[in-house]
Amino acid sequence: MFYRSIKKILLGFIPKTLLYKLEPFLRKLYVFFFFRGDAFFCPICASTLSLFIPPKKTSNDLLCPACGSLSRIRHLYDILQKDYKDIFNPEKKILHFTPQRELMRQFKKTHKAHYYDTDLFDSFYTHSYDIQSIDAPDKHFDYIICYHVLEHVKKDLDALKELKRVLKPSGICFLQVPLSKGNTIEEPLDENYSEEKRKHLYGQEDHVRWYGFEDFKDRIEKSGFCLEVVRSKQSIAYKKLGILANDCIFIARPNT
Ligand SMILES: [Zn+2]
Repeated sequence: MFYRSIKKILLGFIPKTLLYKLEPFLRKLYVFFFFRGDAFFCPICASTLSLFIPPKKTSNDLLCPACGSLSRIRHLYDILQKDYKDIFNPEKKILHFTPQRELMRQFKKTHKAHYYDTDLFDSFYTHSYDIQSIDAPDKHFDYIICYHVLEHVKKDLDALKELKRVLKPSGICFLQVPLSKGNTIEEPLDENYSEEKRKHLYGQEDHVRWYGFEDFKDRIEKSGFCLEVVRSKQSIAYKKLGILANDCIFIARPNT
């Protein structure tokens, strides 16, 4: 598709850090020429659009061509804006694992040193915390956003305990993982499956499990959190924002 071809070409010859700086301008041009309209609205970048597009040929997700956000990120942002406005207070410390770039751009601008973007394997981000052993003090963060990370992590219970340790007692952790329709299936701790096998079993080359809904809830609660789950419903308002139905956000608060 046209969007993916342009992205591939740009990534091929522009360094990632420079592309990060140029991205808002390049995307504005792209939207001006190809997606001008007002049928849809992205709450993250505040763009009106003629349509959202699938990020991959085989995907039924909806990507914003103006900022690259997916349905699940817009769902989170919508919930934050409606019910968790305190996260936008620049004094609040936020730990954000593998953030979506536009969201990261906004939080960096407002929260400055109180915003901790992190990715263990990508030096583009400011920090490179191992989620199974986070190099940060106890009770340090007001908010943690951990989206589509735990399905990559062998010792996910260790990771959840770490999230609880570095979160303030009054803090909130927003979690999301890909969910299967059945029970959790996962790679045994003492095995390392091939990329092909992982893709076949868990849907992606670098995933080590596919969570079942109830089991994921159990694992969060067993790690010392109280839990609330928000699920997106089909509605005209959400259709306009490109938010798919049945997207689950797990909102965890330390239970002590
Ligand atoms: Zn957008």
